[in-house]
Amino acid sequence: MRVVLIGAGISSSLISLLLRRQFGPQLKLVVYDKGRAIGGRMTTTFDNEANPHCSVDTGAQYLTMSKSNGVTKKFFQQLIDDQVIELLNKENTIGLRENAEKIDYTAPRGISSVVRYFFEQAAVEMNLSKHITEINLDPTTNKYQLTLKDNQKHEAEAVIVTIPVPQVLTQLKGSIGQIIENQNDVKEKLSQIKYSTRFAVGLFYPPSVTSLNVPWSICYVDKNQNDCLRFLAVDNAKRNKNEPPLSLVAHTTVEFGEKHVEDDKTIVGEQIRDKIFEFLPELPREFNSIKFHKWKYSQVVRSYPGHPGCVVLHDQPALILSGDGFAPEGNFEGCIQSAIDTVKQFCDLAK
Ligand SMILES: Cc1cc2nc3c(=O)[nH]c(=O)nc-3n(C[C@H](O)[C@H](O)[C@H](O)COP(=O)(O)OP(=O)(O)OC[C@H]3O[C@@H](n4cnc5c(N)ncnc54)[C@H](O)[C@@H]3O)c2cc1C
Repeated sequence: MRVVLIGAGISSSLISLLLRRQFGPQLKLVVYDKGRAIGGRMTTTFDNEANPHCSVDTGAQYLTMSKSNGVTKKFFQQLIDDQVIELLNKENTIGLRENAEKIDYTAPRGISSVVRYFFEQAAVEMNLSKHITEINLDPTTNKYQLTLKDNQKHEAEAVIVTIPVPQVLTQLKGSIGQIIENQNDVKEKLSQIKYSTRFAVGLFYPPSVTSLNVPWSICYVDKNQNDCLRFLAVDNAKRNKNEPPLSLVAHTTVEFGEKHVEDDKTIVGEQIRDKIFEFLPELPREFNSIKFHKWKYSQVVRSYPGHPGCVVLHDQPALILSGDGFAPEGNFEGCIQSAIDTVKQFCDLAK
């Protein structure tokens, strides 16, 4: 059976892993992502070829485990045992909230290594730079036909969509739209899902720069102190690695993100760069490159009512929406829960 997963983020990687565990080699798992690299909102962006070891986590920064959650704990333990994550060192951090019930972990090889780890175990066929534009149900074959931006067509016997829900509603054409349109309750609930908007900026330094002259690894900026910056990290220090090449990542406040949501990311990025140097005048100016990213759909602020983990849009053949928009929390633990619920639904439909 050819199962297509749309999106190569953490939800897709976890779903792939759980499907592989459940069904073994009989499923062909095929992933399509419009991006050039895996990770989605758990992405690690690298400097250019001249400085290939310099990177920043542009989206998610660290993984937080709830001590009392026995279900998600197993996934964390696996990542710890295989040295994909390790404890986040909080000694030199500012504004990181302490919570006795939670433990924070960092990914020494960058946050996208977590996504890669699960995909590798799931043995998927990975197709990057493949933008899905249409999902149609072919009544003669009772299979889905996926159309890509370059007009290529691919068949699927089941489809799991993990892209942010507003993009499902506005960007995916074909019979998926009609399937949603025919289910008023689902349509209404999908439209309630909301994400915040943020911008991220990465500053990549050459190996010759050995200090960024800031005393912290992570700094949450007080909202009353700055109308643009919310989060800053010296990425190597955050990943417990203090040697060059160094890099700095900055995230804006949600308010700043929302104000500039329709603006050009390069123009806004230059404003953010100026704000960074204003806030950190001691920061070296000799960076190698600077990259800007607009997270139009950043973190879930309102999830699908009742957060069922996923929604089955069509049962035979299966068409399922999943990801953090359906989870109790818009983070790694939420994506684990969504993946578990998705695979449970998939198994029920496959009976
Ligand atoms: C700035 C920021 C900070 C965050 N901080 C944290 C944190 O510290 N800890 C934490 O746990 N979580 C954090 N999060 C949230 C976390 O990143 C998300 O909950 C998680 O990554 C969502 O994963 P996902 O797989 O559900 O979706 P995504 O990662 O969004 O994956 C969806 C994928 O679908 C692809 N796609 C979209 N449309 C199409 C299409 N038409 N065709 C093909 N592919 C398509 C996208 O390219 C993307 O790769 C943060 C998020 C952001 C943005």
